[in-house]
Parts: sequence; C-alpha cells; structure tokens
Amino acid sequence: MKLEQIYNNKDLTISFEVFPPKADEEKLLEELKIIKKYQPAFVSLTCGAGGKGNKSFDLISKINDIGFDVMPHFTCISSSFESVEEGIKAIEYLGVDKILALRGDIPEDITLRKYDFNYANELVKFINEKTKLSVGVAGYPEGHIESADLNSDILYLKNKVETGADAIFTQLFFDNLKFYNFLERVGKEGIKVPVVAGIMPVISKKQVKKMTALARITLPKKFKAAVEKYDGSELVKFGIDYATEQCLDLIKNNQNKLHFYTLNKSYSVSKILDNIRS
Ligand code: FAD
Repeated sequence: MKLEQIYNNKDLTISFEVFPPKADEEKLLEELKIIKKYQPAFVSLTCGAGGKGNKSFDLISKINDIGFDVMPHFTCISSSFESVEEGIKAIEYLGVDKILALRGDIPEDITLRKYDFNYANELVKFINEKTKLSVGVAGYPEGHIESADLNSDILYLKNKVETGADAIFTQLFFDNLKFYNFLERVGKEGIKVPVVAGIMPVISKKQVKKMTALARITLPKKFKAAVEKYDGSELVKFGIDYATEQCLDLIKNNQNKLHFYTLNKSYSVSKILDNIRS
C-alpha cells in the first residue's frame, strides 16, 4: 500500500525499521516473525552508508515472503543517474510500491558535487519521474547535523515535499517537546504530508554514544542519568519504559504514526507495543 493510503486515517499506524544484517538473515526474519502480530503497515529496510542505493533485493523479497510490505531506503550521494535509475526500477520490479529517498551521509573520500545527486530533493524528483513509487523522506526534529539551524533545515524539507514526497519519517528523538515544536514549525511552513515519529528503544550505552555522535539528539536529564546509571538488562528495561512513555504521550497528543527503529531485535518493541495496547 502506498504511503498516502497508509496514513490516510487517524488510527494508530506502526512500522518497523530493520537493517540488512552482516551475516545472519535468518535471525532477522525470525525476529520479524515474532513482531508480525503487531500488524505493522510495513517494514522499512535501511541501506548502508556510502550512497550505494539499496541492493538488498533478495532480502526485500524474503521480508515480503514472510508477509510484510517493505519500504526500502535508498541513498543517492555519490551515485550516477544510471545506477539510481537501475536501482529504483529493480526495486519497483520486485512489486514494492514505496521507497525512502535519502541523500545519505557524505563519504569522507569524495566531494559532494562530483556526482549526479547533491541533495535528497533531487532524488525525490528523479524517482517521481522514473517510477510510480510513493516516496518518503527524512526529517530532523532538532535539525540535521549539517544544517545551520532548524529553520533552514525545514525549508529544505519543504523543498523535498514540494518536489513530491508523500510522507516524512523523523530521526529518533528522546524529547517529545522537540517533536511537537518540529510539527508546529512544519505546519507553519504549509507542509501538509504526514509526519511519522521515529522511536528508538535504548538497549546499550554504546548505541546512545554512537547516535549522539552522528546526529543532533537532545538527551533529557532523566534519560541521561539513567543511561549513566544502568547497564545490561536494567538499561533495556529503562529503554522500554522510556519509549512506552514517549509513545503514550504522542498518542495522547493525537500523534498516531509511529516508526520503530528496531535494531533488528523484537524484544523491546514487543514490550512497548504490549504496554501501549494494554
Ligand atoms: P537532505 O535532505 O539532502 O539534507 C542533507 C543536508 O543538506 C541537510 O542539512 C539539509 O538542511 C541540507 N540541504 C538540503 N537541501 C539543500 C539544498 N538544496 N541546498 C543546501 N543545503 C541543502 N542513511 C543511510 O545511509 N542509510 C539509511 O538507510 C538511512 N535511513 C534513514 C532513515 C531516516 C528516517 C533518517 C531520518 C535518516 C536516515 N539516514 C540513512 C541518514 C541520512 O542519510 C543522513 O542524515 C544524511 O546525512 C542526510 O540525508 P537526507 O536525505 O536527510 O538529506
């Protein structure tokens, strides 16, 4: 189902993000089978950094075969028009009807302007010209790490939507107020497509360290203190409780579109969904 149809209602709509595992695809498929009962609208499948598009065609089909609709992510930085056209058409040929169009992080060894695509809005336009895929894009409640400020980042986001994006998927956040502020500013800019909240349950200190090094993500006091205090299963439990509170607050504020960064694990997401549905 296309993104515009998926989000064309006020019901709680969830989706799960996974990444292609380095080794054990079967393990990922088993984890997905466990969370199938929560009836996600789709599973989104990331692609590696470095701008090589998304060539996980086998995995897309396997996820499809166990009963999930799939939204592959697709990065364009350092790719040619030809390779992107080939990639997106191959994805469409698999029977997929939606894609997340991304620029991708700039690889260290190239200069941005040497290639055919500079920014994600160019990819959105290209996908719309070449395919019938519905197109999601990334949004950053606290501003993208390269942007001067949130305002300019939202103007570029508007550009992506005006070019033809059908939905916005946000980077994870731990402070819902940042998300509500983002929604308000997005609304003021006249951006009308659905904005889907990115939720990531914390499972390790290393994960928090990595995320905050790569992106602008505020850690609220309570969150920071818990990450310092807890480890192992205690931290996993805190992560579940914290994400549950975030989701309940979002739902209370009529934000029913939730995208879970699963990290290829079913445990925390299952607990959160059990909590919010009980
Ligand atoms: P853009 O929208 O192009 O924005 C990039 C930067 O350029 C921003 O600072 C923006 O403000 C600025 N900008 C945009 N347009 C212009 C313009 N015309 N002129 C000047 N400045 C401009 N990465 C992966 O490698 N694989 C994934 O699977 C993946 N999945 C993701 C999923 C989600 C939901 C999110 C939020 C991010 C994901 N990323 C992924 C990370 C993403 O690739 C990086 O954040 C990347 O640096 C920016 O991609 P973008 O599509 O947001 O870029």
